[in-house]
Amino acid sequence: MNLSDHKDVYVFAEQREGKLQNVALELLGKARELADANQEKVVAMLLGKDIKPLAQTLIEHGADRVMVVDYDLLRDYMTEAYTQAITAIIESEKPSIMLIGATTIGRDLGPRVSARNRTGLTADATKLEISDDEAHEFRMTRPAFGGNLMATILCKNHRPQMSTVRPGVMQKMAADSSRKGEVVDFSVNFDTAKIGRVKLIKTVKEEKTVADISEAKILVSGGRGVGTKDGFAKLQALATELGGEVSSSRAMVDAGVMDASRQVGQTGKTVRPALYVACGISGAIQHLAGMEESELIVAINKDKFAPIFQVADLGIVGDLHKIVPMLTERLKTMQK
Ligand SMILES: Cc1cc2nc3c(=O)[nH]c(=O)nc-3n(C[C@H](O)[C@H](O)[C@H](O)COP(=O)(O)OP(=O)(O)OC[C@H]3O[C@@H](n4cnc5c(N)ncnc54)[C@H](O)[C@@H]3O)c2cc1C
Repeated sequence: MNLSDHKDVYVFAEQREGKLQNVALELLGKARELADANQEKVVAMLLGKDIKPLAQTLIEHGADRVMVVDYDLLRDYMTEAYTQAITAIIESEKPSIMLIGATTIGRDLGPRVSARNRTGLTADATKLEISDDEAHEFRMTRPAFGGNLMATILCKNHRPQMSTVRPGVMQKMAADSSRKGEVVDFSVNFDTAKIGRVKLIKTVKEEKTVADISEAKILVSGGRGVGTKDGFAKLQALATELGGEVSSSRAMVDAGVMDASRQVGQTGKTVRPALYVACGISGAIQHLAGMEESELIVAINKDKFAPIFQVADLGIVGDLHKIVPMLTERLKTMQK
């Protein structure tokens, strides 16, 4: 493989039912940085049916070029059809870097595309950068060994250099409606015999009964120090006053007190709210991995040496069962 034939940073612009997923825009923001460091272009791959109107949003968020692959076969996500379409793009365009959101779809698609193209894939990267030495290497960093160390991974001999990134980890660029880009229709010769092996019979949507904590602007998060459902009711009262949601450490999910959909951290969700109030959470590295990019972190803990205070902007040492209701009452009187 002649590595110098490969260039530009490609992003899988995941859409569902014609709606772009936030993670696609977040990845474009990171792709812009990487491409600029190498004086390359950002290319979005937009697959689906009747999705071309979404191309403008991708350009406004950092894409220089959008490759639109519009086929009935791609209306709903199917592993084989999407893999064939992206492989056709790889063979024709020779990307250097390819980023995919670590959603349920991306986690299925990424490994299949990398295996078919005989290249590597770094799953769940938390940091992506181009080295500032002469080598200009693409470095993908992710937690390893249970989050106890960070591993930086290189894909030296194969292209594209692929990585998945969880939603909420990268930051999207502010939309710039003056940005210009090229929109290209890309055609694919599908091997329909292979695609026909799997048929989509019915899509059953899980009812969304819980809020998505990765979208919340304010989170009041509880750990083992909160202890019980009654304890979490105090956090819920504070979250309601603040207009936010309640989230949790893994300790409380494992104890069956909180639902797994509300877990923050390495094996939970990555969040980046404007305000994160950590109540009775010690600040284990696996928890910090999911919330340390929050804009303002307030920690309440009775142990003044708790590691959470190292990432907190504001720390309150004391019993959360007293402090949280006091804060809630104070907010109520302030609003009167
Ligand atoms: C592979 C792997 C993946 C993991 N993934 C995750 C993950 O995604 N998310 C996650 O959160 N963890 C994860 N963990 C677990 C993590 O290592 C910690 O065990 C967990 O985060 C601890 O939760 P905690 O802070 O609630 O509990 P603890 O560490 O027990 O801390 C409780 C804190 O509450 C304080 N406290 C107690 N009572 C009060 C009170 N009345 N008022 C104020 N403070 C009080 C204590 O001082 C203490 O600091 C993972 C672990 C492994 C090995």
